[in-house]
Amino acid sequence: MQTMVRLSGLCKSFGPHRVLRDITLDVAAGEVVCVIGPSGSGKSTMLRCINHLEKPDSGTITVDGELIGYEREGDNLRELSSKRIAAQRAKMGMVFQRFNLFPHLTVLQNIVEAPVAVRKMPKQVAEAEAMRLLKLVDLTEKASAYPSALSGGQMQRVAIARALAMQPRLVLFDEPTSALDPELVGEVLEVMRELATTGITMIVVTHEISFARDIGDKLVFMAEGQIVETGEPKAVIEDPKHARTREFLSRFR
Ligand code: ADP
Ligand code: MG
Repeated sequence: MQTMVRLSGLCKSFGPHRVLRDITLDVAAGEVVCVIGPSGSGKSTMLRCINHLEKPDSGTITVDGELIGYEREGDNLRELSSKRIAAQRAKMGMVFQRFNLFPHLTVLQNIVEAPVAVRKMPKQVAEAEAMRLLKLVDLTEKASAYPSALSGGQMQRVAIARALAMQPRLVLFDEPTSALDPELVGEVLEVMRELATTGITMIVVTHEISFARDIGDKLVFMAEGQIVETGEPKAVIEDPKHARTREFLSRFR
């Protein structure tokens, strides 16, 4: 199967603090990989390295065969121009814990902004696509509403539609339901569940263990900047091999 994301020997420190310690991970095209682990284990930093919001200290990342952030120059790597990095980043969707919608733009305007400004997509084409995506996230009737008029769950569904508007082959989710009231979590997971059937590649940092078990193709458990255990989600959840994984999962029982 084709590899969509390859992390190889990824290391990242903030000052003396080694946040990522030799992360190596392959994600196949179309795969849904869920990442769990205690707070501070480096999950967000790993995602932020994938789209070059953080620069790794060493190691490489390829997405869809393309080296992220750098080009090879003999045996060395040279950082790409910010323009080329922006172009790489535009091919990946990212959904954060906080929705980060533009408050002064309507739902529809939020979704068409990047395709029109970055992709130079004709506005009408972008709007038609945005309406298709709003249907996917079940928010057609909110197209002309402003974010302030939406619930947290609705805002997050708009954020997902907005990430999809750039037609990414890979979407990174960083705890997309952690900031939501419990009764709003289900509607967002439902959209992600739907999305997972479309063949798009997803890396999902989440504490929703049942989502990881039911929807994930692979589960990754991280602790202290390392991948401790990875495997088929049901197997990892029901029969973790490492004490550290067992201890972490026991909190969710
Ligand atoms: P997680 O998402 O698993 O909770 P993070 O990747 O956010 O973990 O953070 C891992 C560690 O790196 C934490 O101790 C955090 O405080 C630290 N960290 C993250 N970003 C920065 C930064 N920009 N500067 C300094 N420390 C950071
Ligand atoms: Mg985090």
